[in-house]
Amino acid sequence: MDLFFRGDLQSIKNEIKTEAYSLGFSHIGFTNPENPVHFDTFLEWINNGYAAEMDYLKRQDSIARRKDPKLILPVCESIIVLALPYTPPGFEKRDNKYPKIANYAIGDDYHIIIPVLLEKLVNFIVSKVYPVEIEYRIYTDTGPILEKEFAQKAGLGWIGKNTCLIIPEAGSFFFLAEILINLPFDPDSVFEKDFCGNCTRCIDSCPTNCILQNRTIDANRCISYLTIENRGSIPEELRKKINGWIFGCDICQQVCPWNIKFSKEPDPNFFQTSENVKKFDLVYELKIDKSEFKNKYLKSPIYRAKYQGYIRNLLVAAGNNFHTKMVEPILSIMNNDENPELQDLATWVLKNKYE
Ligand code: SF4
Ligand code: SF4
Repeated sequence: MDLFFRGDLQSIKNEIKTEAYSLGFSHIGFTNPENPVHFDTFLEWINNGYAAEMDYLKRQDSIARRKDPKLILPVCESIIVLALPYTPPGFEKRDNKYPKIANYAIGDDYHIIIPVLLEKLVNFIVSKVYPVEIEYRIYTDTGPILEKEFAQKAGLGWIGKNTCLIIPEAGSFFFLAEILINLPFDPDSVFEKDFCGNCTRCIDSCPTNCILQNRTIDANRCISYLTIENRGSIPEELRKKINGWIFGCDICQQVCPWNIKFSKEPDPNFFQTSENVKKFDLVYELKIDKSEFKNKYLKSPIYRAKYQGYIRNLLVAAGNNFHTKMVEPILSIMNNDENPELQDLATWVLKNKYE
């Protein structure tokens, strides 16, 4: 790093910010990889069983990396944290009553889009510091890093009681991404304030009462977990409370005054909003087979639920909003599906139409 004076890196930092905005990121901050202060909270959350069946979070190597990002990139000197907004609820004109899909999942999968933008930003950095050799890693919800911790440390916002990172002038409907890099940028100021105050709207509105007091969530009861990462069944006592959410849940963000306050335009990177999701028809979806599921949703976040999880979610939603047109596809799952869990759930739905 001898080739640089600190002043050089500072002016490059400003150019990186400008480039990030031109790529569509709304916010960017710089921090260092040291001392993630929320690590103990994370560990307590894991040890209390609140991570449900998300075993990838519990692996010792993954926990160690969350504590020390230098285990991911030993030469890491800085973490650049970026926020990219997605279409907030209410902007889309589609009827979102039933079934409901978390707004981040309406567009193409951010795991496909954001890494391309991050690589472009890294290429820009490479061009600015040449001939210094760059080592880096990029993440966007793709690796073991406490991303909200570093977002707060990089000055973007605070972690709200709903556990989302809240940016004061933008709310929480955005994706986070990180670049770990071997350049010693001056860190931005930590975001020290907490603007949740006495508000408890998210806690009061959560249909399954899974928001805990220490700004963590009991994933075992969270609709986002139950309809996405969960590979098993959805507990009977929660099925009615899921109330038509077939992929994720936005309630604790929708009620947040920091989101109500700002009306954002959707990011141009996500303009290719999936027509499949916009024209969603529950009766039709109940009939799709594995191959159609793959064709329709391979590039959508919905693919993460996998076929069995997706049909499980549709069946639970069908119970929430039953219509006679659903009888035929549900009977077909009951009689033909190769999966006994789906057969049992289909039987249960027809017996217990929720209302
Ligand atoms: S995503 Fe839904 S279920 Fe999960 S904490 Fe927020 S409101 Fe509750
Ligand atoms: S709803 Fe209220 S308590 Fe919850 S995150 Fe927003 S401001 Fe904080």
